[in-house]
Amino acid sequence: MRGPPAGPRVLLRRLREIMAEPISAQDRLDKIVSQIAANVVAEVCSVYVLRSDGVLELYATQGLKPESVHHAALRVGQGLVGTIAAEARPLNLPNAQNHPAYRYLPETGEEIYSSFLGVPILRAGRTLGVLVVQNRTHRTYYDEEVEALQTTAMVMAETLAVGELERLAQPGTSLDLKRAITVKGVGLCEGVGLGHVVLHEPRVVVTALIAEDTDAETGRLESAIASLRLFVDDMLSRDDIAESGEHRDVLEAYRMFAHDRGWVRRMTEAIRNGLTAEAAVEKVQSDTRARLQRQTDPFLRDRLHDFDDLANRLLRVLMNRAHGPLAEELPRDSIIVARNMGAAELLDYDRERVRGLVLEEGGPTSHVTIVARALGIASVGRAANIASLVENGDAIIVDGLAGEVHARPPADVQEAYAEKVRFRARRQEQYLLLRDKPAMTRDGERIALHMNAGLVVDLPHLIESGAEGIGLFRTELQFMIAARMPRLGEQKAFYGKILEAAGDRPVTFRTLDIGGDKVVPYLHTVQEENPAMGWRAIRLGLDRPGLLRMQLRALLQASPGRELRIMLPMITDLWEIQRTRELVDREIAHIRRHGYVEPTDIRIGAMIEVPSLLWQLEGLVKIADFVSVGSNDLHQFMTASDRGNVMVAGRFDPLSRPFLRALRDIVTAADTAGIPVSLCGEMAGNPLSAMALIGLGYRSLSMSAAAIGPVKAMTLALDAGKVASTVETLLADRETGDGVRSALADFAVAEGVPF
Ligand code: PEP
Ligand code: MG
Repeated sequence: MRGPPAGPRVLLRRLREIMAEPISAQDRLDKIVSQIAANVVAEVCSVYVLRSDGVLELYATQGLKPESVHHAALRVGQGLVGTIAAEARPLNLPNAQNHPAYRYLPETGEEIYSSFLGVPILRAGRTLGVLVVQNRTHRTYYDEEVEALQTTAMVMAETLAVGELERLAQPGTSLDLKRAITVKGVGLCEGVGLGHVVLHEPRVVVTALIAEDTDAETGRLESAIASLRLFVDDMLSRDDIAESGEHRDVLEAYRMFAHDRGWVRRMTEAIRNGLTAEAAVEKVQSDTRARLQRQTDPFLRDRLHDFDDLANRLLRVLMNRAHGPLAEELPRDSIIVARNMGAAELLDYDRERVRGLVLEEGGPTSHVTIVARALGIASVGRAANIASLVENGDAIIVDGLAGEVHARPPADVQEAYAEKVRFRARRQEQYLLLRDKPAMTRDGERIALHMNAGLVVDLPHLIESGAEGIGLFRTELQFMIAARMPRLGEQKAFYGKILEAAGDRPVTFRTLDIGGDKVVPYLHTVQEENPAMGWRAIRLGLDRPGLLRMQLRALLQASPGRELRIMLPMITDLWEIQRTRELVDREIAHIRRHGYVEPTDIRIGAMIEVPSLLWQLEGLVKIADFVSVGSNDLHQFMTASDRGNVMVAGRFDPLSRPFLRALRDIVTAADTAGIPVSLCGEMAGNPLSAMALIGLGYRSLSMSAAAIGPVKAMTLALDAGKVASTVETLLADRETGDGVRSALADFAVAEGVPF
């Protein structure tokens, strides 16, 4: 076996010295290229830097004509250098002129050189430039030389990222690294947030690149890999991991990668070439990411996420880092950027410091979105690849209305958005003027606008928004943010605080809707193939009556001498209401025995969110004291499209004939029986949808606090009779499939109704 090559290590050490010297950026770059040329015994060494206009410009050279520096340029995809940048792969050619992509640049005088080795300069999978060496003789560079040049390119990437080279940019040009980008996604929560990127699962930034002691670094890598493997094996052997299913597949993929010999070999090689263990992980990951990002196969692209995750874990082990940013490190204008996250993870952040949220996944009715909306955080989902395109600390703007994200925005875009923020503030002031005005249509129909809540932070909104009450209190949020199960006394105190803040306003408490994507960390539930349709909400409540009874007892004890409204989630069959009523009766008897003052009135209502209820409406309105439509789930189940899955959420419009007909049947049944009916899904908070709901006959809606102003403004301008006949005409049409949304929008425009 050959010993480790000394050359690259000497070179890296030398580069470290050059990087620390107090010289100009151009001098430093010139020194670096001449050092590399000397070390790999090449006549030429050049560095091309990618500009924001997609051109690779020669920034420094040893061996080519000096006057071509900052003049010679190639587009991405053009010539050998452009090909390397486009494909993010090295090119190793004994005779460059024979390559079909070869392009002769006369100003460089490069025609006398035959052999050519070029590697991309990569950082986090992004190409920042190209590093090239050339020789006169026909020669093929050894694998070790390719590897060494790639390692050097990684150090160059750091030099670029530090920002020094920006000063060398010719007037009118800028580096691609600082390029402003706009990513189009979907708006999840209205509002505009200006601030700085905080990566939810930040890439660990490796600062110590060059090894002092190669053997010690190899040892560190080996033990980190061993502990990573143990971690993955441990996860797989836990008994709550099902025998099959998505979760297991992901972990199996992790195990496969963690034991991948090629991966380990590439990292070990990088260490032998002089990098530290963490720099080696980073380098190999950057190469892998660049390769996989060019894959069109979605399966392979998904594997990129797994690989990233694993490499990040390995870095954390090596650098002894915890997960996620520390509260005190969070900037005061944080924009959280993540592939995806759960509702509870968002709640971990200090609300005061968060201005926006950007997700690569995340649908409009997923729970993280609902929480973001409750907190009034401007949010955009489905922002493709965003977590790889930005760095911690980059300036960023989230436009939740247009569904756009602007990273590193130019000054004019920043100014335009700052103006937009001021404009929104003025509009909020106008909504504030409407606050104490009842929501009444032009023709005198009174519409009750309630708000949805679930956290103590929601309470000030009750007064600020002018909501008439809380139409949906999602009790599970308190459970989701707690570190352990809230005890009876804590639950009672919590509900008491809500009722106290509400004063005379009614509050409808929904019993725990956990399961599905609402994960309660300390509650050990089973892994399910299909959690949205699994053991959740009232199903779990009735099977584990201890939990439900404790909640009912807390609610009863918290409501002495006042009305208590309890709403049951995910009711599928009428006996579920009956069984819950029996539990409530037992709890009433219990608090009576213990001398508590009882509520004056207890009303038990059902959420309509499972389609089976549509064919039990007559019975339902007899045994429920009130009903409320959970349009998020009802729509998800009626259209068989997962509300949290970006591939299908948003595919079918709730403003469609079949869905509106179902909603009409519900309001008709409730009105006939004379029981209150409301709708508390996300569509209630959208002015156009709310207009359609009023047209269907709904007179009570519950929505996020921020939506109350816009929905009230719409209501005040609306003629309920006219919208009712428009909706009726639309629904009478039994042959046309679509066009409901545009017809309603046309109606609103013609009537001067703002939406
Ligand atoms: C709904 O499903 O519409 C609803 C209001 O409940 P959640 O969004 O909490 O599931
Ligand atoms: Mg629901």
